[in-house]
Amino acid sequence: MNPFDTPTNADHGPLLTIDLGALVANWRALGARAGAEAAAVVKADAYGIGIEPAVTALAAAGCRTFFVAHLSEGIRARATAPDATIYVLNGLPPDSSGLFAEHDLSPVLGSHEELLEWAGFRQSGAKVRPAALHVDTAMNRLGLWAGEGLDLARERSGVIAAAGIGLVMSHFAASEDLANPANARQIAAFAEIAAAFPGVPASLKNSSAHFLPDCPSYQLTRPGYALYGGNPTPGQPNPMQPVIGLEARIIQVREIAGGTQVGYNGRWTAPGRRKLATISLGYADGYPRNASWTDITPGGSALVGGLRCPFVGTVSMDLIIVDVTHAPAGAAVRGAPVTLIGGELDLETVGAGAKTIGYEVLTSLGWRHARRYTGL
Ligand SMILES: *Cc1c(COP(=O)(O)O)cnc(C)c1O
Repeated sequence: MNPFDTPTNADHGPLLTIDLGALVANWRALGARAGAEAAAVVKADAYGIGIEPAVTALAAAGCRTFFVAHLSEGIRARATAPDATIYVLNGLPPDSSGLFAEHDLSPVLGSHEELLEWAGFRQSGAKVRPAALHVDTAMNRLGLWAGEGLDLARERSGVIAAAGIGLVMSHFAASEDLANPANARQIAAFAEIAAAFPGVPASLKNSSAHFLPDCPSYQLTRPGYALYGGNPTPGQPNPMQPVIGLEARIIQVREIAGGTQVGYNGRWTAPGRRKLATISLGYADGYPRNASWTDITPGGSALVGGLRCPFVGTVSMDLIIVDVTHAPAGAAVRGAPVTLIGGELDLETVGAGAKTIGYEVLTSLGWRHARRYTGL
């Protein structure tokens, strides 16, 4: 048993399996592909798989640099990886410099206010690691506007020196879309930025950018989703190993006549005689309610005995109803496991069935399942 496992439910609770060996293999494959150091983005509880087990496995494999979104996540990562460089993507909250110093964390600075606050803190004599500078080359979301970044660098602005910048970075808006002309524009804009900060390591690539032609890796890449088995090349075969699997158990099976309404508010009506299985998992387990299958909208599905069987009716808090009419004999019985994520039900397929993206499915799963960590 892995020390990060949570107890297996004696009841019907779902089971989330997480293959830490596949996580490490994905990290190694991305680093090899980039020909540069690959960091690991472990924000949002390592995209839902658990920040402590993810950071433990990756640090043991040699990962030296982690990115989180929040200071609180940085503190958790620090407790797990005492020597790593840990960047906090969402920057420096007001008056938080002391906490960054206490936990040896590096803010990703993205505004003049943050630069000034951090520079002032450093000048007071605080011992801190280098910070990163985030330059926004497309999204208008976070970071200095590219022109501002260039001006600061070209003026040899004192605030840049005083802030102690150890990494300059930008983030893609659409790197999973090979045909998007914004990619080339961002690559060119960032090349100018990186050149304006000679001697400062640079970082541009997220997961999908590892598969963009003509994108330099610089010194550090920042994969997240692909580490966890998400497909960085949507529409193409997934080059990554799957990391997570989700199973739940059938708790009841019934046969219904055509015309029977099923689930809350009777949103689905059986077009004929059907066999239904009710499984022990719902939206409170992080499975999106938008995967409900009604008379007018298709939704999600489960693998029952290897056959893909559609949901019927609305996804409830703790239960989902599955049409198992065509499932292999013996697979759709009380107590039998069904697969919600795994095999042909990869993260992208599950996301599409819920009108969302695999990223959201992954990061929503939460802690109600029993967890089994394997592969290490
Ligand atoms: C989340 C994030 C990443 C990782 O992106 P993926 O698409 O999950 O690989 C990289 N850089 C920044 C700035 C991010 O916010």
